[in-house]
Amino acid sequence: MKSNNVIDLVCGTALPFGRSKVSNAQCGAYEGISGEGYIQITKFLTQHVSALIVLALTVLPNIAKANEAEPASSGYWVPRQPPRANYRIDCTIKLSENFVLQGKEVIDFVNTTSRPMQTLAITWFKQRNQTLRITANGKPVALPTPLGSFPQDFTLAEPISPGKSLTLEVEFGISIPAPPEKPDNIGPVTDWPRLWWGFPTQDDYEVKLDVPDEYIIATTGRFDRKTGRYHAEGVPSFGFYLGTGYQVLEGQAQDVTVRCLYKSKDKKCAGLLHETAIDVINFYREWLGFYPYRILTIIPGMDRPAGGYPAATNIVVIHGMSRMAEKPELHWRWITAHEIGHQYWSRYVMEKDEPGWLWIGLGIYADREYCRARGLGKQKHRELMARYVKGVRDGHDTTVNISQEQRSNIKFDFNNIVTHGKGFSIISALDCILGDTLFDRIYRRCLKEFSGRRLGVHEFRAVCEQESGQDLGCFFEQWVNSNKYLSYEIVSKKCEQTVGTYISEIEIQCLGSLKMPVPVVAYFEDGTTQRTFTNRLRDIDTIRFESQSALKEVRLDPDQALPMVVPPPSAGEQELAKAIQDLPWVGAGEKALEVFNKTQDSKMSDPGRWFKLGMTLYDGKYYEQALEAFRKTQTHAQDDPSRACAALVWQGHLLDLLKQRDEALKSYNDALGKSASLDMRHDQYGIRLNRQWVQKRLKEPFRRK
Ligand SMILES: [Zn+2]
Repeated sequence: MKSNNVIDLVCGTALPFGRSKVSNAQCGAYEGISGEGYIQITKFLTQHVSALIVLALTVLPNIAKANEAEPASSGYWVPRQPPRANYRIDCTIKLSENFVLQGKEVIDFVNTTSRPMQTLAITWFKQRNQTLRITANGKPVALPTPLGSFPQDFTLAEPISPGKSLTLEVEFGISIPAPPEKPDNIGPVTDWPRLWWGFPTQDDYEVKLDVPDEYIIATTGRFDRKTGRYHAEGVPSFGFYLGTGYQVLEGQAQDVTVRCLYKSKDKKCAGLLHETAIDVINFYREWLGFYPYRILTIIPGMDRPAGGYPAATNIVVIHGMSRMAEKPELHWRWITAHEIGHQYWSRYVMEKDEPGWLWIGLGIYADREYCRARGLGKQKHRELMARYVKGVRDGHDTTVNISQEQRSNIKFDFNNIVTHGKGFSIISALDCILGDTLFDRIYRRCLKEFSGRRLGVHEFRAVCEQESGQDLGCFFEQWVNSNKYLSYEIVSKKCEQTVGTYISEIEIQCLGSLKMPVPVVAYFEDGTTQRTFTNRLRDIDTIRFESQSALKEVRLDPDQALPMVVPPPSAGEQELAKAIQDLPWVGAGEKALEVFNKTQDSKMSDPGRWFKLGMTLYDGKYYEQALEAFRKTQTHAQDDPSRACAALVWQGHLLDLLKQRDEALKSYNDALGKSASLDMRHDQYGIRLNRQWVQKRLKEPFRRK
């Protein structure tokens, strides 16, 4: 079951060829897994490598603490701010029987640290058929053969003293079987042999690409006719994408060249994305005073309109251009603003933490400001918070700051629920209590101070505290380091007239575990309003307003900036949610029935839970109960027409199995009228529910294979 609202849907092992089709892809599988025979596009390799640091500690000898005052060491050590390197790359791509990528790379840098460096590490993606040879200041460097895993450390014949430079000449090559048909597109490829420090760094690139004639090229760099190279300065990655049979839209957002690659049938969508991108860059520039780069290229991704991702600096992928009609205009405008926001947060300012959420939260704040300014409403951002709120209701531990080991044991969609949903909720909550003006100052200061550097929650909190003059430990501790959730509710209100004035008293109760001041606005009959915050130290806070006219209405969190979990989840609700999640899709057997029986005295209203329960009951042949579960799904899925329709089709299936063909036909007919957006796969049974499937069921009853 897939959510239609995922953003940043990326696939861990993207193929460099053809149209990337990802089935059942989960949003945010950033870390790649080696795909035999394919180039692995580890888009976020450089951003998401903390796990590898641990690895490096075991493979690199003589790790020294990154304390530059210590005596020289020939072992591997990581500078606090690694030297900025220049990569001059000459790369040829050939496509015949094999896909061949080969080239030369000259890496230059000056040791800008205060200690000598003698052991360095290089990383690249791992392939079976690859070559990598390195010469350092003219002397060959010994690398193991065959090459082991990356990162690979190597020791220089002589240490590089502070202030001295090093030139590494690298020859690299990869050869893998080419796909039988010439691919539509290749890439985005972002991995080159490069120095490895365990975290992203910004470097400069001059890249020459020699590719088959029929392909057009999109890269991170600006093309310079004089040098014949693509140039990019201060970028954490250099990516390229090759496409054949594409058209290009090109325009300017002042000095930023904006392109969009598209297939001619997708012209309408491309036009909207391109026009939006120009508007977004102009908006961001006007608001923040600058846009960090000079080009931006939008490239197509998967078939399905499932969001997008920032593939490399200056290259953003937007999925599903050919299925524009399935999403409202808001979606296309918002996702464009969202992906461009990542150019500030993650490229210009880089993420420091793992799991990294701050870059996501701050990035989404940018697209929220765009949506506000352009009157695009709050829906997208409410949806993001709703994911997190649902995660709380489902009983997940949404603590943000967790170790790699904890993270690897997590079965739920951490990226959507916590990184995106809660990540943005935290930023929104902080903005809410500090106020727009102050938060805006913090936002700009972080961009300015951390340009080219990494920003983590530690540094961010320090800036927030300096700017606000407040200790924000309580805020960050609860939101980042705990599973506490926010739930406040108005429990009573009264308004009494005294001599000449009205006194209103509002009682607000904290029903959740997270305590923070929450904005309250009172609206009066004469059109005036008054705004204040609750006191976080009180579980029940009574707020008094004095006014010239009677109280009309009072609202908590009037801007809907907070992820309120109201009513708070009961232990029973969370337990039931957990039990349903734990059911396997196939073979749950009696367990599904047990869980179903527990729902009888609950008020479970989540359509996703009912649907899953229905599927597991069907699987166990509890057809009567499954039928009821799908009826409940349909009742509660008013906001999710695709799921409601699937639930109707399943009612038809079950009625067929229960030999009630007339009733089944009613369900199918009902479903047919609502099947425009129906496209759901049940790979466990080889079933794909869509309009054609429903039409077939009207002629042929459903049979279980
Ligand atoms: Zn994103």
